[in-house]
Amino acid sequence: MDSKNNPKNARAEAWLRYADELSLAPFYLDRRAQVATPDLASGLAGAPAPGFQTAEMPRGTSTPPAASPIPPPPAATAAFVPKIAAPSLFEERVEHDSLDRIRLDITPTCTRCKLHKARTQIVFGVGNPKARLVFVGEGPGRDEDEQGEPFVGRAGKLLTDMIAAMGLRRKDVYICNVVKCRPPENRLPEKDEIAACSPFLARQLAAIDPKVICCLGACSAQTLLNTNQGISRFRGEWFEYRGVKLIATYHPAYLLRNPAAKSEVWKDLQKVMAVLGLQPPKRTKP
Ligand code: SF4
Repeated sequence: MDSKNNPKNARAEAWLRYADELSLAPFYLDRRAQVATPDLASGLAGAPAPGFQTAEMPRGTSTPPAASPIPPPPAATAAFVPKIAAPSLFEERVEHDSLDRIRLDITPTCTRCKLHKARTQIVFGVGNPKARLVFVGEGPGRDEDEQGEPFVGRAGKLLTDMIAAMGLRRKDVYICNVVKCRPPENRLPEKDEIAACSPFLARQLAAIDPKVICCLGACSAQTLLNTNQGISRFRGEWFEYRGVKLIATYHPAYLLRNPAAKSEVWKDLQKVMAVLGLQPPKRTKP
């Protein structure tokens, strides 16, 4: 049989095209080449903001250096066959996809990556399925793992305050994470875990079709922008993810440890508000 007409080859090529669209190529290429690359989380967290109430947090790292434009993502030039343990649900585009269908596809017993071992439950996402604004974090923490909802701990309270400062309610937006299961000890998700779970995020974003995606922290931004650069290099700048405007800002957990960074985050949120035509709520006199 002609290799061009071989159904296996055609299927592999279709997978490659789709993986490339999902920005997963580098993950698989890295795994195949067994090359150690910088930790995805290396740039997580950032600098110094006002307004939102705070406290403290379990993750985030040091203050990042100055910003510069993000370079184009590396091109996937070599053919590759992803090595995943289980059959992928994402070999083809999912027609008429919906959040309910994605949740069913994940299943409550998903074992596609090692994060299933320590989780209490899958934390899928919450909010308006037709939201114009989606916030994407990195992964569930302890409170989220217990309650099954993203951003419900102290960082979650701060995110809720940030959303309110934008003149929105939590139920107006959609909130989710790159990985749906809690990484042990609240560590950052690893590349193989992101590779296994991020297709679900890609489907969530496609199903919601928001006007703006706001990445919270380096992990989600690096995943969706297909870069290893630290968030400080591109925080507050506009990008495009599959036709949707994307901006990255610091994770609320980072702000709990670095309240001074709130002013930078507020500037980023104001950019989002401008795109969405939002006005901050008027303050009522006490
Ligand atoms: S993180 Fe995602 S891929 Fe991994 S076990 Fe949980 S739901 Fe499955």
